[in-house]
Amino acid sequence: MKKVLVTGAGGFIGHHLVRYLKDRDYWVRGVDMKHSEYEPSLADEFVLLDLRRIDHCLEATRGVQEVYALAADMGGMGFISSHHAQILRDNSLINIHTLESARQNGVERYLYCSSACVYPEYRQTAAEVAPLREEDAYPAQPQDAYGWEKLITERLCTHYREDYGLETRIVRFHNIFGPLGTWQGGREKAPAAICRKLAAAKLSGNHEIEIWGDGEQTRSFCYIDDCVIGIHKLMRSDYRAPLNLGQDRLITINQLVDMAAAIAGIRIVKRHVEGPQGVRGRNSDNTRLRQVLGWEPQISLEEGLARTYRWIEAQVRNADAPMRAHPGLAGAV
Ligand code: NAD
Repeated sequence: MKKVLVTGAGGFIGHHLVRYLKDRDYWVRGVDMKHSEYEPSLADEFVLLDLRRIDHCLEATRGVQEVYALAADMGGMGFISSHHAQILRDNSLINIHTLESARQNGVERYLYCSSACVYPEYRQTAAEVAPLREEDAYPAQPQDAYGWEKLITERLCTHYREDYGLETRIVRFHNIFGPLGTWQGGREKAPAAICRKLAAAKLSGNHEIEIWGDGEQTRSFCYIDDCVIGIHKLMRSDYRAPLNLGQDRLITINQLVDMAAAIAGIRIVKRHVEGPQGVRGRNSDNTRLRQVLGWEPQISLEEGLARTYRWIEAQVRNADAPMRAHPGLAGAV
């Protein structure tokens, strides 16, 4: 039985990944600063640690053969665009210390979760954007500190492999969404924020919702079940360079809102307000993903969004009355 560590196991992707690995007979240690919020973790051992500290990283990586490094101080555009110093400091500490501890403890394989946020701003200025190939990351000009840190850690992983022989894998996620992810509080991402606002609109009867910007900014979105399959396939592969993991279906935020409103079964009025929007357009080029893994994400946006909406509507129903009464409460869209 292979022993693996999942860092960030109390977060959205980490929680789902632990379940996926347990279904495949791994022994899993989950590490995070907090427990999973919405259901208990299936990890064999769950340890609360602060991975900014090297002593905690040494404890986390002891006795495991593989590490899935997901821990990060992160959130949606609202958070990422307003916490540059904190994000760069915390995530640099987490990743330098986790990687070095893995080396010292003789870990064999290490998968690092990077992001589409590494891609340069100058390639993402139009809504009808060309899909981003892995090599497009250079010359580098990520929009935010979050993306710069991801890029540096990608390079650190590469150098640890070259200099110390630690087998590293690097995955660049493109907007992962699904149930059991943050849906309120300021760190939620666009799909969750849209579902929350629609659920609150439906339950309150006030069908006007706020959208940040004109809603014509574009993205692609990948459902969580596909994400964990892709992570595992990459870890098992012999591919060592960074690899996109996402869908390549481009959609505007306005279209995403309309799709979710149809799922919710309500007609809505969109009010476009000032707010951080990130880059104007972003899409994944999946050519290399198909070549390397012989696979790409399968679950349609409609299906994934329906599952996500149902879960978030249930959360909103159980939430406090003020949340239900004010659908426009702050949140990232
Ligand atoms: P998340 O915020 O739900 O999970 C991250 C977890 O890391 C949280 O539970 C948090 O408590 C934990 N963490 C933060 N600081 C820590 C510390 N000092 N010590 C221990 N744990 C700490 O985020 P997620 O969506 O599950 O993302 C997982 C990884 O994937 C992150 O590295 C993120 O940057 C990356 N990523 C996610 C997306 C996405 O769309 N969700 C896109 C690109 C990249």
